[in-house]
Amino acid sequence: MEKPCNSNRQFLLLHLLFLSLLVGLTNSTAAPSQDEQSKIISRFQEYLQINTAQPSPDYQKSTHFILSQANSLSLESQVVEFVKGKPVVLLKWPGSDPSLPSILLNSHTDVVPSEYSKWVHPPLGAHIDEQGNIFARGSQDMKCVGMQYLEAIRRLKSSGFQPKRSLYLSFVPDEEIGGHDGAEKLAYSDVLKNMNVDIVLDEGLPSPNENYRLFYAERTPWWLVIKATGAPGHGAKLYDNSAMENLFKSIESIRRFRASQFDLVKAGLKAEGEVISVNVAFLKAGTPSPTGFVMNLQPSEAEAGFDIRIPPTANTESLEKRIAEEWAPASRNMTFEFKQKVTTHDDLGRPLLTASDNSNPWWTLLEEAIKKANGKIGKPEIFPASTDARYFRQLGLPAIGFSPMVNTPILLHDHNEFLNQAEYLRGINVYESIIKAYTSFIPPGRDGVSRDEL
Ligand SMILES: [Zn+2]
Repeated sequence: MEKPCNSNRQFLLLHLLFLSLLVGLTNSTAAPSQDEQSKIISRFQEYLQINTAQPSPDYQKSTHFILSQANSLSLESQVVEFVKGKPVVLLKWPGSDPSLPSILLNSHTDVVPSEYSKWVHPPLGAHIDEQGNIFARGSQDMKCVGMQYLEAIRRLKSSGFQPKRSLYLSFVPDEEIGGHDGAEKLAYSDVLKNMNVDIVLDEGLPSPNENYRLFYAERTPWWLVIKATGAPGHGAKLYDNSAMENLFKSIESIRRFRASQFDLVKAGLKAEGEVISVNVAFLKAGTPSPTGFVMNLQPSEAEAGFDIRIPPTANTESLEKRIAEEWAPASRNMTFEFKQKVTTHDDLGRPLLTASDNSNPWWTLLEEAIKKANGKIGKPEIFPASTDARYFRQLGLPAIGFSPMVNTPILLHDHNEFLNQAEYLRGINVYESIIKAYTSFIPPGRDGVSRDEL
């Protein structure tokens, strides 16, 4: 019984040695020095200080800045204007095996406008407070991610890492106004075809807790306008079938449906992205008068608009039936039209989602890479709104939404958007790990070696 004890100790020592080696290997690049850290932060600040707010982003400055970063990293670069004045900046780190499909990391350069007076620090200042919080429009959405891609490449290059697959970065101009001149054009271009992309990463959301959030799909918008007509009449008269009465019956029905969906979220049975949301966007009725509206008249027309968001897993046929039969029935003198009706299926007719299990090697690799960088991961989610990722999923490409921000309040499009600098730096480590894993991935069966032989 003594001997095994001895060899146990030896085993333990060896095991410890192996573990320390492993730790050494996984943290292949040392933490950046104080000087290097402040350089990283000031590059981020520089990007944040460029005014790329819609409706008139300074694309000249942002393009110049991105190209100068690319230049300092010896990346190949190309500026494509599918629409004049709306530059898509493409950067490439060529892989050692050009026969392997590539990786695309997407980010948008534009940001939403800010109400300057409601910010504690100016939205273009990129001021850092005593807690290390960097205040700027775009600090979460999503200049952080665009710069983190570049900083991760900088670190990998200086460590001597060589990717097998080519890595592309796309900086697109107009996500905040729909992405039609940027990501959508790119997705359907020969430029993208020639890039031979296998997987796209795009933006996600910050997490108020310690778990990173990964998005495998998003809800698609249906913008519905319903219109009621009815006999006009004196404001003192009670009668059936007025336009307003017809419209209110629909609104009651829509509000009941909204509550049923919201209850599922409140009860914790479904996440926000998993239910159909419907919110009133406008109400339009009444007969205008010089002082407001005519008060003793029941109008002959009334309209309401709704922003509906649908997860790709929803039964859209039953929703369409509900709209035609309950929300805008012809029997109640109602009509409806869609101002926008985005499909929940891709070009190949499949539900618009990226597999979030081990049937998708990119999903598994991403989870492993985040864990390797000491990150925790929450349950896969459906993005509650829209991002440019939908254009790539539409093609049938896998696309995952991810913005590495934990313990961070969600301030996208809000006043006082900020990101803590320590969190920003952590995100660079995470992308370093992801880029390494993604660009090194060789699918089983390549190079004549099957999984069985391995
Ligand atoms: Zn965004």
